[in-house]
Amino acid sequence: MKVWIDQDLCTGDGLCEEIAPAVFFGQDDGLFYVKETADNYGEEKLFDGTNNPAGSEGMARVPDNLIESVIESAEECPGECIFLEA
Ligand code: SF4
Repeated sequence: MKVWIDQDLCTGDGLCEEIAPAVFFGQDDGLFYVKETADNYGEEKLFDGTNNPAGSEGMARVPDNLIESVIESAEECPGECIFLEA
């Protein structure tokens, strides 16, 4: 499964990172982004528009053990801006 955030709709409350800190993170712009961690994929990859694209172009892979919490994040997200793809 892959996940991405539409930053245009993100409220910046940080609920996603509270639920799944290994997948979501906040930036200085007050918005939240997705990432792949070194623990799960050997190297850290931040999809924040700096070295890798953000938004729908920046899809992070979700490890199997985090799928449940990522789904919960998407369900709880007040901006309804966390999107999952197979
Ligand atoms: S839960 Fe949704 S609205 Fe809140 S910070 Fe995360 S992506 Fe943005």
